[in-house]
Amino acid sequence: PVVTRFAPSPTGYLHIGGARTALFNYLFAKHHGGKFLMRIEDTDTERHNEAAVDAILQGMAWMGTPHDGAIVRQRENIGRHKEVAAQLLANGGAYKCYCSKEELDAMREEAEKKGVAFRYPGTWRNVPPDAPPPAGRQPVVRIKTPEEGCTTWKDGVMGQIEIPNKDVDDFIILRADGTPTYLLAVVVDDHDMGVTQVIRGSDHIGNTARQIAVFKNMGWMLPDFAHLPLIHGHDGKKLSKRHGATGLEEFEAKGYLPEAIRNYLARLSWSHGDDEIFSTEQAVEWFTLSACSKGAPCFDFEKLNVLNQHYIKEADAGRLYEIVVKLFPEVKAFAAKFRDERIANILKVRAKTLIEYKQAGDFFMAKRPLEVSKAAAKDLGAAAAPHLLSVVEDLQKYQGEWTPETLETYIKGLVAAREMKLGAFAKPVRAALTGSTASPSLFEVIWAIGKEEVLGRLRDAAE
Ligand code: GLU
Repeated sequence: PVVTRFAPSPTGYLHIGGARTALFNYLFAKHHGGKFLMRIEDTDTERHNEAAVDAILQGMAWMGTPHDGAIVRQRENIGRHKEVAAQLLANGGAYKCYCSKEELDAMREEAEKKGVAFRYPGTWRNVPPDAPPPAGRQPVVRIKTPEEGCTTWKDGVMGQIEIPNKDVDDFIILRADGTPTYLLAVVVDDHDMGVTQVIRGSDHIGNTARQIAVFKNMGWMLPDFAHLPLIHGHDGKKLSKRHGATGLEEFEAKGYLPEAIRNYLARLSWSHGDDEIFSTEQAVEWFTLSACSKGAPCFDFEKLNVLNQHYIKEADAGRLYEIVVKLFPEVKAFAAKFRDERIANILKVRAKTLIEYKQAGDFFMAKRPLEVSKAAAKDLGAAAAPHLLSVVEDLQKYQGEWTPETLETYIKGLVAAREMKLGAFAKPVRAALTGSTASPSLFEVIWAIGKEEVLGRLRDAAE
């Protein structure tokens, strides 16, 4: 059975790159009818904090990529990690190294002088384990990595990868204080969790070469590895704050729908023909690693906006209201309007985000007296007052149904009776009702604002 996992380190929030890694692991597992597990890599106690864990879990819940089974906390497995280190010592796959900090610093300096990367030279590798240790020193435990040849694997995304073993030194698996290192913990946990497919960012390729040594020295089956290209910004540099939002919760706060993010992230280095808009179910059905590209994808906010606009149009009014009220508590007073499917349709017309969606409703939420834009003010003033007052009178008389359609019929009748052009009739009314020169159709505006408020705003403008 296929088992994947998402293994974030809780460093603050769920980065958009991490979210994509989670999504791809989810899609791969579900495509194969397997399990998608979750592990919090919280052994690094200094950086560890619960709020960061919550932020990641919330991000996952929001994105809608639920994991299977209980969350694994890496720090709870420390005993097991140590046990494996002991087994490696016993089976000759690892050894104790007593090099002092000073000795290592000297080697590092030496390497720096030569302009080469420092590699631990295996000083203690061949010292017989029963040789008496130097007094007063706590050893670290190092893994034995192959000295010759290359570590190779067929990467699910990057293809054949070969890392010369001279670049893979005997790295530390247990520190002098007896705590396991990250590289050991990941392998032990992946093995114990039964992970069959590792999918993670290409920044881990170097780690993979090291981790393979641990698997091999334990005689464990290797999982398959796939490394995703890192996401870049429009300038070709790694995506960062400079490019805009990078945390999942920032996208939520900016009025993006989770299905838009999910759909967009799925397309960042994976594709299915020319399909641009697809559901999670479709992505699950179609997903394969072989359709992932090696090149770094560029995060394009415009493309994301197109998708978001699409999904806003698809969503029903009630759901959009629930999201909008979280972003803008003040819309609570207008809940009935926001929940009205016909009003939602008016707000949806141009909204690329839910912030724009809410702003499209500002005209009916505006408080009297209205703020009037400079351009709209030109349509008002003393000359417009008699016209506005006559409209007040006519609307007061109107006893018909209050819908955009019935109002349209009625108002077109008024326009004809006055022998006016609709534009000449509408401009001052629109300015008086919305304080702006651009708005949805006048009939929709009058309908959405409501009779009492319409009369009040027209009177204000006629004063
Ligand atoms: N904890 C690592 C990270 O957040 C990921 C480890 C892995 O996927 O193997 O970058």
